[in-house]
Amino acid sequence: HAKNSGRNAYRLYTPKMNVEYDEHLRLEVHLRRAVEKRELQLYYQPRVDTKSGQIKGMEALLRWIHPEMGFISPAKFIPIAEETGLIVTIGEWVIREACEQNRRWIDCGFPPLRVSVNVSGLQFQQANFVELVRSILEETGLDPCYLELEITENSMINDVEDNIATLMRLREMGVYISIDDFGTGYSSFSYLKRFPIHALKIDQSFVRDVATDKNNAAIVKAIVQLAHHMNVSLVAEGVEDEATFRFLQAERCDEVQGYFFSRPLPAEEFERMLAAGEFITTEKPGSE
Ligand code: C2E
Ligand code: MG
Ligand code: MG
Ligand code: MG
Repeated sequence: HAKNSGRNAYRLYTPKMNVEYDEHLRLEVHLRRAVEKRELQLYYQPRVDTKSGQIKGMEALLRWIHPEMGFISPAKFIPIAEETGLIVTIGEWVIREACEQNRRWIDCGFPPLRVSVNVSGLQFQQANFVELVRSILEETGLDPCYLELEITENSMINDVEDNIATLMRLREMGVYISIDDFGTGYSSFSYLKRFPIHALKIDQSFVRDVATDKNNAAIVKAIVQLAHHMNVSLVAEGVEDEATFRFLQAERCDEVQGYFFSRPLPAEEFERMLAAGEFITTEKPGSE
């Protein structure tokens, strides 16, 4: 709270009242109530096994649908949630909701899948984070192997020793860990080799145009090799077309995710897709 009032005080003395600032402030006020008002939702995007074309899991992605302002992009509100510390409460809701939903799908008899959840640095660094995850898993009865936490490089580079200890404890619990947006952050190889992770998610900026852009192709090939030599799997996100998918398949990237397979879907639509068994096909994973 001290932090919040500090920020507000700072604002009073620098009244830079431009449009962006107004919007930022307006969003902040509304975001505070969004959780209670149930304006937040999780969408789910399939993660597909490159070899078999089968669905391997899904990423939970936060959506904010405000009654008047309509759809607000995570790119807009996640940074505000992080600055204000609201991400801690919101992030807790996200993990609980994703675990509850995943448990329901398993109970329905769908083949068990792993749900991955984005965790922001501030959330990950909370002293009780490991205990929080443990209690959510207990409450929801979800086996830890069906939860994956996606963490970015940048949220790990401060207090590296503490973060490694946290990752170890999560890993021992049986939770999966991946590094998101890999290649865009500031981490070095000396850290990377010490992070006890299961997967790297190569950032979309490298995946885009990989079939035609020589530099991206070189980067993706190198990261696939790096991941496999380090014994972690490689996930490519932002796969939008068949050429990109074929390239990743040829390079033995393990999992793919992107609009070519499916956009992120509301839970009900995702469930319909599961029920239709749309991904249990090796031929044309993109066909609909
Ligand atoms: P991210 O974790 O890297 O998620 C991937 C983003 O790429 C998502 O954007 C997804 O909708 C989008 N995407 C998926 N396939 C494609 C594709 O083929 N082409 C293109 N152009 N985009 C694709 P989204 O949902 O807007 O989320 C943006 C970012 O917001 C996420 O990036 C993540 O960093 C953050 N975020 C989303 N949900 C949460 C959350 O619950 N907690 C936290 N801390 N961050 C979240
Ligand atoms: Mg992610
Ligand atoms: Mg990413
Ligand atoms: Mg990201």
